[in-house]
Amino acid sequence: MNRYAKDFPILGQQVNGNPLVYLDSSATSQKPFQVIEAVETYYKQYNSNVHRGVHTLGSRATDAYEGAREKVRRLINAESTQEIVYTRGTTTALNIVASSYACPRLGEGDEILISPSEHHSNLIPWQQVAKKTGAALKYFTLEPDGTLDLEKAKQAINERTRLVAIAQVSNVLGTIFPVKELAKAVHDRGGVIVVDGAQSVPHMKVDVRELDCDFLAFSGHKMAGPTGIGVLYGKKELLEAMEPVEFGGEMIDHVDLYESTWKELPWKFEGGTPLIAGAVGLGAAVDYLEQVGMDTVAEHDRKLAAYAVKRMEEVEGLNIYGPREDRMGIVTFNIEGVHPHDVATVLDAEGIAVRAGHHCCQPLMRWMEVAATARASFYLYNDEADIDRLVQGLQKTKEYFG
Ligand code: PLP
Repeated sequence: MNRYAKDFPILGQQVNGNPLVYLDSSATSQKPFQVIEAVETYYKQYNSNVHRGVHTLGSRATDAYEGAREKVRRLINAESTQEIVYTRGTTTALNIVASSYACPRLGEGDEILISPSEHHSNLIPWQQVAKKTGAALKYFTLEPDGTLDLEKAKQAINERTRLVAIAQVSNVLGTIFPVKELAKAVHDRGGVIVVDGAQSVPHMKVDVRELDCDFLAFSGHKMAGPTGIGVLYGKKELLEAMEPVEFGGEMIDHVDLYESTWKELPWKFEGGTPLIAGAVGLGAAVDYLEQVGMDTVAEHDRKLAAYAVKRMEEVEGLNIYGPREDRMGIVTFNIEGVHPHDVATVLDAEGIAVRAGHHCCQPLMRWMEVAATARASFYLYNDEADIDRLVQGLQKTKEYFG
């Protein structure tokens, strides 16, 4: 166990008679004591609704809820907390941009440009926008190793491109996409860029002002925080011009029988009782990650991925997908002649948790010409000993099905 693993109580257990090796952090990460305790303290000591009551518990809850927003702002270097909208997760955040930004603004003759490697959450919303508005949905062309050739990608962006949507890090290939350069190219043509940060914000320093992205979506549960909370960052002038998606309590300023007005940002997008415990937990997760340091997390994950690629290549008949170098902590693979579900089942018997399936990327699977893959993904609590256990497990899988 490395020095961070001891903060994560779940990791100390045995699974199927073996010490747990958790290699599925891209699906959801584990949570440190600090986050679990922050959520517990909220429920035990100051559970209350926010923004409403004048009583002491209500003020404490509001302070914690809004305090967490400031922590998130700082983490991604947004200009103002007005640009930080709490959502249920990445999926909800991307859907808000699709329905509230894109649908009213796009029409026939316009183009939406995305990558075939996108997670369904950053693909289907754009299919829907295209269907509803008549805009055309176009795709970047991926290089054989799952990267983008920047020059070709820039050429794909033209004056009809109203919106580019792309993950900063692919949840299958581990590819780091050149978001900053794409942002510049799409801005030069008058469009906007939507960044899916589900796999980047938890693992590296993401600075929205440096990237100059218009929107950024990410999920708390993949960055040591609770499930059910995520973030939509949007540039203030864009969010201000957008209509809310959900209407009801909390998001209103004045309500009349036939007309109503909305609160200012970010609350106009947070209708109903918000995700208070989730926000409190997310704030604690941000504190935890910042204490470790995002650059330390990134370096750790990248080093582990490089070590994993090197060690896994020792397994005969094992194919690794995605770039050989410069990948985040995700290694997607197949063993010739063995179904990925069988790989995951044998590994599970050894106490090793990996994911098998299409990883919510069916078009990418078709591009890779596979039905499914296995995926090992790493976080700060993993170490080389975990990879060694994985490789042992993979050798066993081969023996078993050999
Ligand atoms: N985008 C990417 C790249 C992801 O990896 C995921 C989750 O796996 C999502 C979007 C969706 O995140 P959520 O299910 O938390 O909304």
